[in-house]
Formats: sequence, C-alpha cells, structure tokens
Amino acid sequence: MPRRPATRPGPASGLTGGALPEQDAEGAKDAPRRPRASEEAAKVNRRRQRDASQVLQLVRFSGPISRTQLGRLTGLALSTVSAHIAELEAAGLVEEAGDGDSRGGRRPRLVRLREGGDVVLAVDLGSHHARLGVANRSGRLLKTVERSVLLENGPDVVLSEICDHLERLVDDLGGPRVTGIGMGLPGPVEPATGVVTSPSRMPGWHGATVVEALEARLRVPAAVDNDANLLALGEVRARPDEDLRHLITVKVGRGIGCGIISNGLLYRGAAGVAGDISHVRLPSLAPEEAKPCGCGNRGCLETVASGAALLEEVNAAGLNISSLAELVSSVHSGDPIANHAVRNAGRHLGEVLAVVVNFFNPQALLLGGMLANASPLVVAINAAIYELCFPVASRSAVITQTKAGPDAGLLGAAALVLDKVGELGVK
Ligand SMILES: [Zn+2]
Repeated sequence: MPRRPATRPGPASGLTGGALPEQDAEGAKDAPRRPRASEEAAKVNRRRQRDASQVLQLVRFSGPISRTQLGRLTGLALSTVSAHIAELEAAGLVEEAGDGDSRGGRRPRLVRLREGGDVVLAVDLGSHHARLGVANRSGRLLKTVERSVLLENGPDVVLSEICDHLERLVDDLGGPRVTGIGMGLPGPVEPATGVVTSPSRMPGWHGATVVEALEARLRVPAAVDNDANLLALGEVRARPDEDLRHLITVKVGRGIGCGIISNGLLYRGAAGVAGDISHVRLPSLAPEEAKPCGCGNRGCLETVASGAALLEEVNAAGLNISSLAELVSSVHSGDPIANHAVRNAGRHLGEVLAVVVNFFNPQALLLGGMLANASPLVVAINAAIYELCFPVASRSAVITQTKAGPDAGLLGAAALVLDKVGELGVK
C-alpha cells in the first residue's frame, strides 16, 4: 500500500517522542560553519520541546512515576525534569499522584496524566469498513465499533459518515469533551499539507484535504497518517513493557503496507514512503506469471499477495467470495483453492520480507490486517524467511501476529493525535 505520513508539521510520533526531521538535522554532518544565534536558539527550543514530549509520553505510559525515575529513563537532569513537569502541570496535562514507596530515603512524589474526562477519537479507515474508537488521555480505548463505509464514495461522503458515527459514539459515552481526532488511511498523505496524493486504493481521494475536513467538522486538532504506520505505533504502545525499539509491522489487507519503528521512533523516510513494499518486483515470478500492476510495472508483490489480488484469484478459480473475512473463514474450513492462494501469497510475502529482515535486523516482525488471521499465510511467511534469511537476523526476530489485533490501528491513531495535542499543550 503506498504511503506517506501525516499531516501538518506536527507531533513527534514514536515510543519516546522526538521528531524525525530534528533527529536527522542533528545527525547531519554539514560543512563546519558557525551557527547564527537565532539558529542556536531554535535548536535549543526544539530540544526543549522534544524533551518535554518525551517526559509527557513516559508519564502517559508509565505513570504514576517519580521525577527521579523520569530522569533516569530520559537521561535528563532532575532539575530539567522538574521544570518540564511544572510546565506540563501548568498546561493541565499532568498532576501530582501522592507519594511512592520509599527505598530508604524520602518517599518520592509521583506524577500521573491528568484524566479530566477528556477523550480523543480514533479511526482506522479501510476500503469497505471503518473501525472507530474513543480513547482516554492515556490512549486506552474506552469504546470501539466497526461500521461499513465505501471509500470509493469519496472523501465528502465518507468523512461525513465517519463524523456522524463518531458523534453518536461520543454521545453514547455521555458526551465527554473531545480534544482531537487521529485517523489512519490506506493511502499516501502529503506530509507538509495533509493532502491525500495519488492513492491507488482510494479512488476519488486524490487531493482530499482530510486534516482540514476533520478539523472543520469536529473543531478539534486532527492528525492523519498511513494505516501501516499507525499499526506499528499502536503495537508499540500496546506493549509498553517489551522495549520494542526495532520493529517491522506488516499490514496485509486488501493492500499491503509496512510500518517501521527504528530505535523507538516511527521511521517514515525522506519522502515519507519508507516501508512501501507493495511495488517491490518479485524476482521469482516467471515472465508469464507477472501480472500488470496499477503502478505501471508488472509482477509487483501487490499483484500476487494483496487481499484484492487474492479475492480476484480465488473467484476466478470458481469460488464466490466478496470479503477478506470470508476468505479467511474458507481457508480455515479447509477449502483447497483458498488455502493454495493464501499459502502462495505468504510465500511471496516471505520472499520480500526476508530481504527486509536481513537489511533491518528487527527484534520482531508483526503481522496485522485481516489476512494475518489466516494461519497458512503466517506459516508460509515464516518458512520463507527462515529459508531465505541470514540466520543471525532471522533467529533474533520474533515473527508473529500483532498483539493488539484489530485495535492496533486505533491505538496508533489515538497515540498520533495524543502526541499532537500534547505538543500543542506544552508549546
Ligand atoms: Zn506495482
């Protein structure tokens, strides 16, 4: 699935916060030049914002927590942590949470996220359905529902329907104050403008200003990203104790997308399309097997391993299946056509993922999306990776399904907007 990231210049999204462009800029080794005072000040200010965001995220996911623990986890001086906590308290984002257990000295004062009853909305938009959720300020989902939508109806209709559903969902919870909305889209979003650009699986959405549309309708900050990125972010947030710092998630639905967490941060690449494996050409396909792809080439992974390609394949072979859920259930009830198609798709996916695992050396490769529920696909991916991968890389990578299941994308969408709202709050 082609993909580009978020929205407007916005929040850091990652395990420990910090915006990638800043990280890249600091890592760049330009020719030596004395920085101007204004550049220095801007750099200090960016670092301060990044540190504040990191402190807030740790309070969000590990609180109640003491300032000393925050200092140890961030590497910041205690005085710096205390200054950030004071600022976050003033912004109404964190609050004192009493005393913790003593370890011989004075009992440490703890801080936690201030709940206040505020919520954010989260949406994981697919081509035929949308998963919707309401999350509290810790990113925990309070309520989720799934609704049918048809992406091909275009952004005006679909976004309006989604907002109607969300408003009903908030009403069902007694009408808490909504402070933001995060949404995952199965297509590329221009990072600087928040505009959807040339999405192959979203006909009629080219040029759609999703962030603007959501903010205009719901009157809260919105953040939008590719759905595979949000799957990765959601999975990291769902496993706060596992220290997942080097992670690949693969979303196998009607399209194929890949999210990357590198050193604890969501990695989007220079143009925001890092991890797009759907148009990798499969070298193992014979010329007569290489079908034309929507991108103009032939024999792309998407043409043999995406849910859309599989539905086409099994229906051409005589089945009558209209959804991936039906396909997964046919696989598990032993249908030979469905099983053959899904195993073959897994083998091809595994060929490409073996290169990814060799190159990236992840701790874990997690499979999400509807087709990750088809066990023969997961088995075939595993087999291909173990056969084709450098053993040191494959041995160190756990290959399994996502833990958060269908909610991983929603958790990621909630985290994305919570980061944005948090950053807005501490500026
Ligand atoms: Zn292609």
